[in-house]
Amino acid sequence: MMRLPQFDYVVPRILSDALLMKADAGPSSSFVAGGTDLYPNMKRRQQTPATVISVSRLADLHGVNGDGAFGLRIGAGVSLTDIVEHPIINRDYPVVAQAAASISTPILRNMGTIGGNLLLDTRCNYYDQNYEWRKAINFCMKKDGEICWVAPSSPKCWAVQSSDLAPVMVALNAGLRLASPSGERTITASEIYNNDGISYLRKEPDELLVEIILPPRDSVRAAYAKLRRRGSFDFPVLGVAAAIRTSADWTVASAKLVLGGVAPAPIEVPEAEQALVGYKLDREHIEAAAEACYLKARPLDNTDFLMNWRKQMARPYAIKALEQLLESRG
Ligand SMILES: Cc1cc2nc3c(=O)[nH]c(=O)nc-3n(C[C@H](O)[C@H](O)[C@H](O)COP(=O)(O)OP(=O)(O)OC[C@H]3O[C@@H](n4cnc5c(N)ncnc54)[C@H](O)[C@@H]3O)c2cc1C
Ligand code: SF4
Repeated sequence: MMRLPQFDYVVPRILSDALLMKADAGPSSSFVAGGTDLYPNMKRRQQTPATVISVSRLADLHGVNGDGAFGLRIGAGVSLTDIVEHPIINRDYPVVAQAAASISTPILRNMGTIGGNLLLDTRCNYYDQNYEWRKAINFCMKKDGEICWVAPSSPKCWAVQSSDLAPVMVALNAGLRLASPSGERTITASEIYNNDGISYLRKEPDELLVEIILPPRDSVRAAYAKLRRRGSFDFPVLGVAAAIRTSADWTVASAKLVLGGVAPAPIEVPEAEQALVGYKLDREHIEAAAEACYLKARPLDNTDFLMNWRKQMARPYAIKALEQLLESRG
């Protein structure tokens, strides 16, 4: 059985205290929400913070306010179960509830939060192993070692961004409000992800994610298609998020397609958008967009399934996501 290392655990009740505690504890500290990603990582000694600061009692992180007409603010500490069951999220941003429902298991969704999901560590078969396993291969560049076993000549780590909600939030153009001792800023979901498996977030370690801001729906329809081995629960090894706006006759006015689970960051596919905008959302243009997704997907051999097969699946999964939108015509 893997055991947690020793650490100090603090539970601030107000946001400013949480930020002060992080500043006091310094680099060897970590925020935790549900702990469903951080604690397994600590058991595997991938992360070993001396102090863990819980964000679970911070009231600022627990609201869901607004609606599709004016935009929705979701506190980073809202559980995935609450996202799945929330009536306004289901009515106005159903893709968010749908993607959240595909994450892990009901018990883990009771603990796991939307904020923790968006800030999930990147994953790799050579990294998500216990300490002894990793030591036996002399570790790897992401933690304790020097080379990358997936791409030995690569100067960077290719561990995969495996959050289901990350590509959805990029497709919806969500904003993320961050707070730190030096103030607050809001950046887009697209801006926070960095295509590097080690330095995968453009966020300072002392920045706390307060809330996720969904823009007004503005007739945007969105869908998410997820490839995984087990339908009951599994991380995505490919996810396609699509968000489009059409005119009354289903001519596409704007489109955003984003691939998850194939690189250290969600990958936007502007070529797919070009294949759709200005045309009717029909089979011909859906296939052209899917082809662009296939060309853009460059998974490596570091998660489940053969990488070439995962690349090929980008086509049918893009079609699946876009056809869901077509079906929503009613
Ligand atoms: C068996 C299993 C299956 C899983 N399947 C999936 C899956 O299919 N899809 C998927 O996307 N995920 C999956 N997960 C991962 C995880 O359960 C979810 O992503 C969950 O939403 C993480 O949220 P959390 O609150 O538990 O994160 P935590 O573990 O608490 O935190 C994750 C990271 O975010 C940081 N963090 C958390 N909240 C904040 C904040 N407010 N501000 C700043 N930093 C913060 C933490 O420091 C940590 O680095 C799975 C996990 C397990 C164990
Ligand atoms: S991609 Fe390479 S460096 Fe990154 S976790 Fe995997 S083996 Fe390690």
